[in-house]
Amino acid sequence: MADFDVIVIGAGPAGYVAAIRATQLGLKTACVEKWIDASNKPVYGGTCLNVGCIPSKALLDSSHKFAEASHDFDVHGIKVSKVGIDVPAMIARKEKVVKQLTGGIAGLFRANKVEGISGTGKLLKDKQVEVTDHEGKTSVYSADNVILAAGSVPIEIPPTPLDHNVIVDSTGALEFQEVPKRLGVIGAGVIGLELGSVWARLGAEVVVLEAVDAFLPMIDQQITKEAKKIFTKQGLDIRLGAKVIGSALKKGKAKGVTVTYKDSEGEKKEDFDKLIVCVGRRPLSDKLLADDTGVEINERGFVTVDDHCATGVPGVYAVGDLVRGPMLAHKGSEEGVMVAEIIAGQKASMNYDLVPSVIYTHPEIAAVGKTEEQLKAEGIEYNTGVFPFAASGRALAANDSDGMVKMLADAKTDRVLGCHIIGPSAADLAQTVVVAMEFSSSAEDIGMTVFSHPALCEAVHEAALAVNGHAIHIANRKKR
Ligand code: FAD
Ligand code: AMP
Repeated sequence: MADFDVIVIGAGPAGYVAAIRATQLGLKTACVEKWIDASNKPVYGGTCLNVGCIPSKALLDSSHKFAEASHDFDVHGIKVSKVGIDVPAMIARKEKVVKQLTGGIAGLFRANKVEGISGTGKLLKDKQVEVTDHEGKTSVYSADNVILAAGSVPIEIPPTPLDHNVIVDSTGALEFQEVPKRLGVIGAGVIGLELGSVWARLGAEVVVLEAVDAFLPMIDQQITKEAKKIFTKQGLDIRLGAKVIGSALKKGKAKGVTVTYKDSEGEKKEDFDKLIVCVGRRPLSDKLLADDTGVEINERGFVTVDDHCATGVPGVYAVGDLVRGPMLAHKGSEEGVMVAEIIAGQKASMNYDLVPSVIYTHPEIAAVGKTEEQLKAEGIEYNTGVFPFAASGRALAANDSDGMVKMLADAKTDRVLGCHIIGPSAADLAQTVVVAMEFSSSAEDIGMTVFSHPALCEAVHEAALAVNGHAIHIANRKKR
């Protein structure tokens, strides 16, 4: 008999969720995690809780409050004489939030009887898992099923080797102890924009260098146009078509780095006090598998899986950032649940078409389903409904009225095909549409639903009504 029904390697949002769901379903489950704290205690929660979603949002929230107090209170008649920022205190608060949450996972493991095994896991042949602890001692466990959930790490590029002081990755950018005067960010992706926003709000001059000419090409272009305008107004100097090709750390007493980049006009140089390299993440599949496991890894390092996260080897699954699809915590968690249920004998699946994605700038950008560009490319006829937050009573009351809700619905069936939002609380608003889309809602269904007043979600209601020319609080492009 095997030691465990299930062994999960990695306790990020994909792995820890899989482990908890598996024990809920009566499976004897262990979760191997290599992350430890200063006192050698295992740390659960992976990238998301420790150096990803949660700490970045803690800093985004703190810096947003600072920006509001600095510039936005006046309009409410609130007089603030001098707003200051204590960066070490802000960072310490972020760490407190992280600790509370990672400790929470340890508590959930105890409550659900997930056996935490501290060390680095490696899959061997025949669903054996070798674990090397922090003193180098090796143990081997057997399992009927193994779930690989080792996650991802930041990509490093040769022109900007990290020195973890001046040139840092996203993890280092969550640790600055003072506001850099001039900050360079390489990559105008989700993480670059979020981290650039944090430090710009606190007073850094931020230059974002993006190799590609298009801004956020995966997002609906009507939304990105608005985003670029707003971010530029906020002080982010976003330079598209600017490929970083070199860097030189300053020597002697001078601090900082000179970055060389190439754009359509030729080579250019910029000096920065700090540089954040945010050029994407890669799956952490190296050293995860012995040579003879039979599990396939593709040329980009992703473990090859089917729609149910099964590898080609029976009983071996892989989930989260380690496999294809968007590198998002909630996508990995849902995969973890699905796999645990499949192992327990249930018929489980996941709707990959409806994984929402969010950029937590201010305003937030949130999207689900198809963009207008995708619908055009696929030759699908559609109707569009757009509602600007400038016409939302609640947004105006909050003095937070930049942005819009855009809804796309099939021209023949009225079924909602996509929703794209830039605006206050976009993540939560888009989620209401995800639920509707999961139930194959039409725009009319959403239009016929009663929404609270005054609330930001009324913008979703009005965008749905606008799809068929029935919006009340804006002039419709077509009347019916
Ligand atoms: P991870 O979270 O990377 O966890 C993998 C775990 O496995 C780690 O704990 C690691 O130590 C452990 N591990 C690896 N190899 C081994 C081994 N051999 N043995 C034992 N343990 C091992 N996503 C969102 O959805 N929303 C956001 O707002 C968001 N913000 C982000 C902000 C930043 C700055 C970053 C960097 C990422 C952000 N992400 C966000 C992405 C999100 O963090 C990842 O998609 C998510 O953490 C992936 O989950 P995972 O469980 O697959 O892997
Ligand atoms: P994401 O994959 O969303 O995290 O975004 C990473 C971004 O970094 C992409 O938009 C890339 O085009 C960009 N990028 C990658 N390498 C470079 C480089 N050398 N210079 C500037 N931008 C880069």
